[in-house]
Parts: sequence; C-alpha cells; structure tokens
Amino acid sequence: MGKVSIGLRGWRFDEDEIFTDAGGWRPLEEIPKEPRHRLVRLQVVMNKPCDACYLIHGEADKQQCRPASIIYGEPLDEVLLCDEHEADFLFWFRERGGASIAGEETFRDAFHEWFDDGGRAPDGYGGMEHVEEAPEDLPDLRDPETLYEDDDLLVDERPDFDEESDAAGDEAPDADAAGEAEANADDGDEADDDLSVDDLDLDREYPT
Ligand SMILES: [Zn+2]
Repeated sequence: MGKVSIGLRGWRFDEDEIFTDAGGWRPLEEIPKEPRHRLVRLQVVMNKPCDACYLIHGEADKQQCRPASIIYGEPLDEVLLCDEHEADFLFWFRERGGASIAGEETFRDAFHEWFDDGGRAPDGYGGMEHVEEAPEDLPDLRDPETLYEDDDLLVDERPDFDEESDAAGDEAPDADAAGEAEANADDGDEADDDLSVDDLDLDREYPT
C-alpha cells in the first residue's frame, strides 16, 4: 500500500496503518503510536496560519496570513507552512542545517529564528513533489483526550485565525434560538404564556 497525506501535505501516512482493508478508518487505538500522534496533532493545527506568514504579519495583521497547507517536523514541534513559504523551509532544511536537527526540540524554533532573521530560499528554489492527498477529513477522533494522560498534543500556542468568528459560531445556535423565540412571540402564541414576556420588553424592538 502507498502513502498518503491527510488534511495537510507533508506528513505521510502508510495507508495500511490507518485504513482498514475496506478503506475505512481504523479505530484510533489500533493505529500505531507515531501516526496516531500525528493524526491527533493534525486535528489541533489544521486551519491555523502558516508559521512564516505569522512571523511576518504578527498578531495585529493575523488575517493577512495564509492558512497552512503543509506540515513538517514532529508532533508538537511541527512547522506549518503555506504554499509560498514551503520553499523557504525546504531550503533551510536542506541547505541551512535544518536536516541535522530534525527530531530535536529546537527544530521549529531554529527555523523560526532563521526565517525571522530574513532567511529565504533563492528565487525559484525547487519545491517538493507531494504524494496524493487522502480525503481531507480526519478520522473520527471522538475523545482523543482519553487516549492520553498527557494532553500536550491537544494544546497549541498558535493563534487561531478567527477567534471572533469562532466565538460567533458558538453563539449562533443561541442566536437562532432567540430568533425563534422572538418569532414565536410575534405569532402571539398564547400557549407560551409561561414565558415571562414581561421581561422581554418586546415593544422596544420596533423602530419608531
Ligand atoms: Zn506563509
């Protein structure tokens, strides 16, 4: 069986380690530790900004960052990259000593420092041929917490792209519920007398 990437390019998985013969996801417990850690980690870091973009734009201009599409390194010490910054990483990895510290705790920081100091690949530096991606969906990682007493894998210091819209998303169901309640109130449904309509002060909702 071949190798595939899932969600983000870069990390490769042996198909037979993560898929059943029928093509479904193996239960997480059956997946060997290393690919399992990667799968759990992918779930945490997907949809985060590219590390290099973030070094350029910073928190203030976070929305200028491109979302990461590529992941290299080890879980917890992974580097997230967009298409444009992959060449810089590969140049650092191949030509500036990155490969010599692969797997070490300093790996990600070393790349960040090099990039932050202005390190870049020469124009036209060759990229990488990526394996075919598997479906973008991650396996059903129902309760990854239960698999790890140490939940470091589930924590990431990277900023989320849209904390505001995440928050809005969390509030959306409530907003919908409020909308429905309002609609019901507008219907003048007498059966809802139990609701404390007095508290709602609906009249103030109307423009004059
Ligand atoms: Zn980038």
